[in-house]
Amino acid sequence: MQKDHLPTRRRALLAGAVSLGAAGVAAAFVPGTGERTAPAPPPAAGARPARRPLRPSEYRLRPLTGYGPPRTPHGRTPVRREPLLRVPEHGRTMVLSFDDGPDPRYTPHILDTLARYEVRAMFFVCGEMAAGHRDLVARMADEGHVVGNHTWTHPLLTRLRRARIRSEMERTSDIVEKICGERPAWFRAPYGAWNHAVFRLGAELGMESLAWTVDTLDWTEPGTRTIVERVADGAAPGVVVLSHDAGGDRSQTVRALRTYLPGLLDSGYHLTVPRRQYV
Ligand SMILES: [Zn+2]
Repeated sequence: MQKDHLPTRRRALLAGAVSLGAAGVAAAFVPGTGERTAPAPPPAAGARPARRPLRPSEYRLRPLTGYGPPRTPHGRTPVRREPLLRVPEHGRTMVLSFDDGPDPRYTPHILDTLARYEVRAMFFVCGEMAAGHRDLVARMADEGHVVGNHTWTHPLLTRLRRARIRSEMERTSDIVEKICGERPAWFRAPYGAWNHAVFRLGAELGMESLAWTVDTLDWTEPGTRTIVERVADGAAPGVVVLSHDAGGDRSQTVRALRTYLPGLLDSGYHLTVPRRQYV
């Protein structure tokens, strides 16, 4: 998962995603100046969570979010021409997503922070990482997060033959099902590189295609504060935030989440996972 192989293409794709994000930016979130006059500071290490974390069974009892029906009402997943870039606005709802994991150095910390604030997120896992860290994938599902498919080895799919694309996607869905008991309902192409074969195969495997609205560019290790600012600047209803919990040193990603997550909540955002029937 070396992301530097494709700097030009990646930059172009990112520029598109960022500009889309910028278009949706509202003056909705400034750390410390949210709707509440006195937002709580981030909890100190070891502090008790403000709210009791939900038990896994409680997450599963929540009816309005989660995997939802695996198919559209028409019984088929549509073959898209471009991926979804955001989720339909449903109040001040945003989605946090973490790609390329799981990685035992970073994913547990991210899961801990999400649990502390009772927030659910999407994890687009790579099959080879999932196979090596099944406990972490199981924990994601147990704690109510959505486990999405991000291919087996993180290749540039647009350079592969159809059979190889299918193998990359299908093997990953297989192992997620083996670990979690459900096949992924969401797919995200590595590097944001999609083509018709990818959309068609994803639909055949029952997966919706989700890209992102705001890229934190955390994989460039820009500094924790910069990651926090990018999320804060991009925050708006319907926004999908992209970060990474593997593929390099993600300690900045881990630390940034601890700051921007309580900030978003104090600003009135509801961090959740999308429902398939939304789209
Ligand atoms: Zn990726």
